[in-house]
Amino acid sequence: MKCVCGGEAERVKLEVKPYGVSIGYYPGYRCNKCGEEWFDEKTAEDIEQKAKKLGLFGLETKGKVGVAGNSLVVRVPKHVAKFLGLKKGSIVRVEPEGKDKIIVEITRH
Ligand SMILES: [Zn+2]
Repeated sequence: MKCVCGGEAERVKLEVKPYGVSIGYYPGYRCNKCGEEWFDEKTAEDIEQKAKKLGLFGLETKGKVGVAGNSLVVRVPKHVAKFLGLKKGSIVRVEPEGKDKIIVEITRH
């Protein structure tokens, strides 16, 4: 199979890890020139079904920043908090990663 870059793609088994959680290996393609990896439509549908079944789908959210005292507040929707095991009182470390991204790391002791 040809890649859009013109390179030749080979069949490979690719590990699928939505949100960092492995849901298994699926047959896909990897370009030998640009390294792009992809699945055919049927496989992509299977992967989506499995991810949905495991609650590993659609965890990205958009929201509006609020205010609490002198701090800004970013809300974490309930289903995302559940996935993360995040609850009231959890200790997090907040670190800017550039000017338009922050990392919120849950510290577990
Ligand atoms: Zn390519």
